[in-house]
Amino acid sequence: MKVVRTIAELGAERAQVTDGCKVGLVPTMGAFHAGHVALFRAARAECDVVVASLFVNPAQFGANDDLARYPRNEQRDLQIAMEEDVDVVFAPSREEMYPDGFATWVHVDIAGAEGEARPGHFRGVATVCLKLFNIVRPHVAYFGQKDAQQVAVLRRLLHDLNVGVELRILPTVRDADGLAVSSRNIYLSARDRERALALPRALDTRDVERARAVLANAGLDTDYVEVFDDNGTRVLAAAVRIGSTRLIDNVPLEGGNE
Ligand code: AMP
Repeated sequence: MKVVRTIAELGAERAQVTDGCKVGLVPTMGAFHAGHVALFRAARAECDVVVASLFVNPAQFGANDDLARYPRNEQRDLQIAMEEDVDVVFAPSREEMYPDGFATWVHVDIAGAEGEARPGHFRGVATVCLKLFNIVRPHVAYFGQKDAQQVAVLRRLLHDLNVGVELRILPTVRDADGLAVSSRNIYLSARDRERALALPRALDTRDVERARAVLANAGLDTDYVEVFDDNGTRVLAAAVRIGSTRLIDNVPLEGGNE
């Protein structure tokens, strides 16, 4: 497995890929868990060359978000990527991705509660993903259904800007108790984790009003519960706060990915 830190080095790796080989990209912010591993495995099964990017993208964190305390453990991540047979890890610095003078942003103009709750978040996501698509030039990019509105934003971006990258969306990986695995779960105390289980339970009702009631009964601070359309599939999505930790989750309501 190669670890490359500059766009030039990544370009040199990419240039060695022969025509006809399928390149898969798994964009990540590190702190790997079973959700990331599912994406690596799908990419490994479907592509000739698997590239994982590891970059905690400052542009998608708001002023009140948790950028400074976002979990980072590169050695562990590289070990996991190697075990999952990833070919190339692209782990650029902040300066490599956003050098002085950086001034171009991608704004995908679709409505959604997650975007409204986190102003600027999807601008950061769309911008970094388009940069990664241009740098890596994958045939297929792998994302998790866990971040449902992110999927909707990226689908729109790829279509509207004729990017020519295929999206593959993998179902949400959950722990045995039903909680969607997330890098942020490590912040939850045992008691908070118990309370957090109301989130998947609420979504299991598959109904906005009933989901709201479950969250209210559990005493969780609810950011939103909404149904939105992604590519013809209705998705029930919610965000809650437990102390200073914010959790999101969703279930496709019909014909979806879960
Ligand atoms: P992150 O490193 O948090 O940006 O996540 C990288 C990718 O993993 C994104 O496409 C996420 O949607 C995906 N992901 C995160 N959690 C899960 C999960 N529980 N199941 C499936 N995919 C996930």
